[in-house]
Amino acid sequence: MADKKILTGEKRTVQVGKIKFGEDHPPVYIAGPCAVESKQQIMETAAALKEIGVDVLRGGVFKPRTSPYAFQGLGREGLEYLKEAAEVVGLPIITELMDESHMEVVSEYADIIQVGSRNMFNYSLLKSLGNVNKPIFLKRGMCATINEWIMAAEYIAAHGNQDIILCERGIRGFDNYTRNTLDLAAVPIMQKETGLPVVVDPSHATGIRELIAPMSKAALACGANGLMIEVHPNPSCALSDGPQSLNFQEYQQLRQSL
Ligand code: PEP
Ligand code: MN
Repeated sequence: MADKKILTGEKRTVQVGKIKFGEDHPPVYIAGPCAVESKQQIMETAAALKEIGVDVLRGGVFKPRTSPYAFQGLGREGLEYLKEAAEVVGLPIITELMDESHMEVVSEYADIIQVGSRNMFNYSLLKSLGNVNKPIFLKRGMCATINEWIMAAEYIAAHGNQDIILCERGIRGFDNYTRNTLDLAAVPIMQKETGLPVVVDPSHATGIRELIAPMSKAALACGANGLMIEVHPNPSCALSDGPQSLNFQEYQQLRQSL
């Protein structure tokens, strides 16, 4: 990989307040709904997750949906709710930045900025994240090779920001029984190649609630530096990704089993 310049494989810890993502630190637990749906929903979720013990609260407010007619997220209003909910319980937040036009507001509110699978190849967005003084959570493109994912991280690093957390969220294979195919080999490979922490998202990787616990265990067994899991107060009523979301009790049980 002759053109790789900055991410040499030297181990890197990414710090968000007191939380550290990296080899010498315990796995970081990120949880929350796919999307912020209302103030009440995110307040209730933040309180329950704080009680169970999570490190970072997630919630999408600008949602990349396959259908333009599906719920697109609450936008700035959702960001206010997410921030307020997190402040009440004292947790940092992660949310997705979909578009450069929201850079200012998202980088002001979010403690970690997520780049979604669909945007991993958006090189102008990656370049502009190089100038941001917040950690970037770079999800793997659903059709991205290992090398393409490394180079996406390299774009951010080359433009000035080396605080990058990688996230394996499954890739599209020939089998659609699961939503995606979780590529766990990517975890030690990406750690070795880039030195960056790697988090696993078993929710989007499988799309199936029952598979989240076994895949979480497998992810930690192969050295993942954290888990991002979708949790909703009532998954059957979720406006997005209900079938892959856990309720509070299921998430608590999972955490006990890990
Ligand atoms: C998400 O985390 O809500 C999301 C949309 O994930 P991905 O970009 O991996 O599909
Ligand atoms: Mn989702």
